[in-house]
Amino acid sequence: MKKTKKEKKPDRDVQSSVNIGLIGHVDAGKTSLVEALTGKWVDTHSEELKRGISIRIGYADANFYKCPNCGTYFSVEENCPKCKAHGVFQRKVSFVDAPGHETLMTTMLSGAALMHGAILVVAANEDCPQAQTIEHLNAIKMSKIDQIVVVQNKIDLVTKDEALKNYAQIQKFLKSYSVSAPVIPTAAHLKVNISALIEALETHIKSPLLDENKPLKMYCGRSFDVNIPGTEIDKMFGGVLGGTILQGSVKVGDAIEISPGFDGKKVITTVCNISTASGKLDFAKPGGLIAIETTLDPSTTQNDQMKGQLIGAVGTLPEPAKEIELEVHYMDRTTSKAIQSIKIGESLVLTIGTMTSLAIVKKVQGNKISAQLKKEASFWKGQTIAISKQHEMRWRLVAYGIAQ
Ligand code: ZN
Repeated sequence: MKKTKKEKKPDRDVQSSVNIGLIGHVDAGKTSLVEALTGKWVDTHSEELKRGISIRIGYADANFYKCPNCGTYFSVEENCPKCKAHGVFQRKVSFVDAPGHETLMTTMLSGAALMHGAILVVAANEDCPQAQTIEHLNAIKMSKIDQIVVVQNKIDLVTKDEALKNYAQIQKFLKSYSVSAPVIPTAAHLKVNISALIEALETHIKSPLLDENKPLKMYCGRSFDVNIPGTEIDKMFGGVLGGTILQGSVKVGDAIEISPGFDGKKVITTVCNISTASGKLDFAKPGGLIAIETTLDPSTTQNDQMKGQLIGAVGTLPEPAKEIELEVHYMDRTTSKAIQSIKIGESLVLTIGTMTSLAIVKKVQGNKISAQLKKEASFWKGQTIAISKQHEMRWRLVAYGIAQ
């Protein structure tokens, strides 16, 4: 198609203003919900290489628009699906998928470090709660995510009476966990009630704010080498770090510190480029997922090797440590009493921000434990750390610890 006029640039931000996690049981229909909310589920590897940014199965962006004619009608389409009027841009949102499969609980926990709010997806044709519904809700409560919207999905598969019965189950469940959240019925694969869902997200999940006075603090959720094999050295891109800024900001040219870095030593590098799925940025703030090209050797960032690292302003990050002392708090009602204890010599999986590390318990004294980490980690005193334990062949979230 030949363009006669220069296409009008859409009125959208380049950086998402918030990360919303999708949590819930594996069969609750999270994938079709993200499809309804974003129009696509980006997983094209070549696109990722081309742009050198953090798109991968599990991450997708959407723009929310409000129709100026149809009352409170929200959509992810620029032109209103009902009246075709040009919608008013509200904000750009990133969705982060948390795997609902029980064996991927530790992946879900490291994903929770990147979320500002969450959609808890419940299937109307199943009893609520399912095992992962409880585990995921505990995980986000532990991560202090209190902006939650509940989706009662698959309402097209049940009768009105069954839907009402299931709705009452959800309300009872939320009440028992002291969660206050709106419950929005949807049939995601038919795109039913998506406007009401977007309205609930706009109302209940606020975007994080930028505090210019605070130093940069960012979690690395992935990392890559974006160079195509055979690229000449002078044309190569530096190592790319993908993640979300928790506080402060970063701009091209800044020096940044990475901890635990390499071989137990922090590393300092320079920001060469910042990008998102929608384009390049000179400056990034707390909010959606960004990718930072650095002066690091790309071989050190390939295949998510830097996942779990902390990124911050130079001189502000904790020193890497291989030992950790935690004050342990067990989860209520999640797990059988049998696994609500930690013994000397036991193996644990600790989720420290986006880092997952094996740890061996060295000392237990009252509700405090000391553990030896398999690899160095970087954490602050007072930081909340998820503690998973193996039970019946899988890792289960049993407690959280406060770093001492
Ligand atoms: Zn309209």
